[in-house]
Amino acid sequence: MPDASTARGAAPAASGAGATPVKPRRDWRIAVASGKGGTGKTTVAVNLALSSRGPVQLLDCDVEAPNARLFLSLTDVRRNAVTIPIPEVDQTRCTACGQCGEICAYNAIVAMGAPPIVFPRLCHGCGGCMRICPRHAIREVPREIGAVAVAGNGHLRFVEGELTIGEAMAPPVIRAVWSELAPGTPAIIDAPPGTTCPTIEAVRGSDVVALVTEPTPFGLHDLELAVAMVRALGLPHGVIVNRMGIGDDRIQRYCEREGVAVLAEIADDRSIAEAYARGIPLVTAQPQYAARFHELRARLEELAAQGTQHAQGGAGGDGCDAQEVS
Ligand code: SF4
Ligand code: SF4
Repeated sequence: MPDASTARGAAPAASGAGATPVKPRRDWRIAVASGKGGTGKTTVAVNLALSSRGPVQLLDCDVEAPNARLFLSLTDVRRNAVTIPIPEVDQTRCTACGQCGEICAYNAIVAMGAPPIVFPRLCHGCGGCMRICPRHAIREVPREIGAVAVAGNGHLRFVEGELTIGEAMAPPVIRAVWSELAPGTPAIIDAPPGTTCPTIEAVRGSDVVALVTEPTPFGLHDLELAVAMVRALGLPHGVIVNRMGIGDDRIQRYCEREGVAVLAEIADDRSIAEAYARGIPLVTAQPQYAARFHELRARLEELAAQGTQHAQGGAGGDGCDAQEVS
């Protein structure tokens, strides 16, 4: 029976805004995100971690479709359930006053002249109904919505969250992944694609965000949304252009205009896709990439240390100075 990890915990603290120019620490938290799926985000996250020359942790926060583990040989896997607290009504105490239903913003508890009915899948576990009940007729019971696995692979510590199929609330599972972050060790965070709540939950505790995109109209459209998201969060960020060669230079022109650093370009190379399809990390299939990912990580750490002007939404940044990874 796995231990339960209740997810109404403290969210990771945001950082970046107002950061001092240089931080003395080395345990940077680097999030890898993308405005759209299928850009190569997991490839970048996994290879950033595997190219590390020292201890590192990889957090797979893409909890609706975690797949970083497919590229890793893991040992000592420990798996814990993730639960949220949902209300259970003691009908012997309830006077059907309806206050619990009135306070619930999600219509997850409904009382219409009778003891309330709870709809567990709509409940966000906020505890509001329990607190407002004048009769103390509500207690909380845990409901499992996913799991977090922690495993090792040499100097790599791996944490993965997985939302149970059919469940809708990814953020509590992502918070549970973050709660497993080992302090003092650098971390790479594989964030969910997009710009909605799960992505924000995954990246907001990071020091810097690498936005992976591709040089297509869709890639640019979704990159613009992703840049707006990290700017709103006040997080330093840079761009990695994957599959260079399938489109044009619209990403580079956008980044130059916006003062966003292009940190790396990865060629559209069939051998990379073949290694991915076989579950072989790029740095294993083509070891020459290890040094390039190491350099990429150094650039990201530099951005994190600078706490760039992007954090305040201003112009600036490093301009279009891509590291050629192809
Ligand atoms: S607030 Fe308490 S007493 Fe009122 S309907 Fe809800 S459970 Fe019953
Ligand atoms: S815990 Fe919050 S979300 Fe769930 S039923 Fe109560 S008020 Fe609604």
